[in-house]
Amino acid sequence: MLKFTRHPFVDVGAAAITAFAGKSRPEDLSWQDLDEVADFIERHYTRDPLKSFLTAIFPNSGYVQPAMKPEKFAAFLNRYLYGYRNEESVSGLRCVYCGREASVRVFRQHVPMLTGEGMLNFFPGAAPGLPVCGFCLLCIQAFPLGATKSSGRTLIIHSDDEQVTLRAARNFLQDNLKYLNMHDITKYPDQKFPRTIFVDQVLRISEDYLQGQERSPSITLYHLTNYGTTADVSILHLPAQVVEFLSIASSARFGGVWREIVRRAWQSVDGARPGVARNFLYEDLFELPERAARFVQVYFLRQGFRAPVRFKDDPRSGYVLERELDLISWDLTAMFLREVMEMDAERIRAIRDLGDRLSSYISRTNDRRFFRDFYRVDRYGQLRGLLIKASNAEVRSGRSPLIGFDEFITIFEEGRDLPRIDWRLARDLVLIRMIERLHQEGKMLEEMTPEAEEIPGGEAAEG
Ligand SMILES: [Zn+2]
Repeated sequence: MLKFTRHPFVDVGAAAITAFAGKSRPEDLSWQDLDEVADFIERHYTRDPLKSFLTAIFPNSGYVQPAMKPEKFAAFLNRYLYGYRNEESVSGLRCVYCGREASVRVFRQHVPMLTGEGMLNFFPGAAPGLPVCGFCLLCIQAFPLGATKSSGRTLIIHSDDEQVTLRAARNFLQDNLKYLNMHDITKYPDQKFPRTIFVDQVLRISEDYLQGQERSPSITLYHLTNYGTTADVSILHLPAQVVEFLSIASSARFGGVWREIVRRAWQSVDGARPGVARNFLYEDLFELPERAARFVQVYFLRQGFRAPVRFKDDPRSGYVLERELDLISWDLTAMFLREVMEMDAERIRAIRDLGDRLSSYISRTNDRRFFRDFYRVDRYGQLRGLLIKASNAEVRSGRSPLIGFDEFITIFEEGRDLPRIDWRLARDLVLIRMIERLHQEGKMLEEMTPEAEEIPGGEAAEG
């Protein structure tokens, strides 16, 4: 009877009904399961706290119209909520979501984001309304149960992987049922920061499902309001490569360091939790892969912001390398380069090897000045000069050069004398490996790290 259709409202509704019935697939639902959820909707949608939430989803529907006469309300329920029981059909028309015979035409009071009655725009056959079947319509009536409220809008999570849609809807349904059982709540709790809520859900689903999967799905968030003249939807997307990164980062291999990096990215407020507070790292994931260099600088190299902070509770302005040496992880960074930036393995290896050689050099010669200069260098010519000088000194002392020609090209240049656009990123990556090694050897002395405020120029300065 019910099935996933790839339409977010229908799918989230089917997922919520499936979770409500304690089943694992929409195909497993029985008539009794459908009757039970429809009965639940009839009893709860017309009362607070759900009613206040529903005015922004189904405005002018029977659920939120106090003036609607009982007979009219019964007819509304019969047609739009219990429509799956009726034999009614709109002759010759198919349901736009699932292709079954349509039973009714719907408008924006029944399905969010449609136009009102009498509007002809965007409908097939220049006839107003959208033909749907009773089953899909039940799913759409149920989708708020698998949603949460965020900044006055409705937030749902949908994926090409049905298990992800199902699990997110189940999590939100459990929260909703909890609210309904709290007698002192009259208003549905609102939560800000949809991006943070989104990533928190993805991480929860990652722990018990995504980590066991061969391929990561892409996951989409819809944040919508169907209210009055301000009806609008914003769509946020986490590409499969970022989902894959999150899933590997939270696995046992990286878990300890990663959890601490995430913990130190929470907005500095009391009782920070998803929705109530913002997690800056979670929010920055939506700028990937475009701003990956900045992401590396802030979260993996632990550089604070030089520019005045935009948010007063932003913990990132307090990141100081010497206090966070335990969070510097080459392996985690390299995994990010591979999964999110799709950097080729040869370049990643060359960067790591250079970091190893430079850390051995510093360790042996105690050349703190070289470390400081390399950390601060702001122009490509300086960086090149610095490496050549140190390398020549090694050769004069009868040792191998610090960096070979081919390696230099692979890491820093597009072609001869033409720096790569991301040479600063490459420098930061070499630093991450160097710092990790020096710290492991106990050589990372406090006075070796540059002063906190002397942050090298680079992308963090824009932050
Ligand atoms: Zn249908």
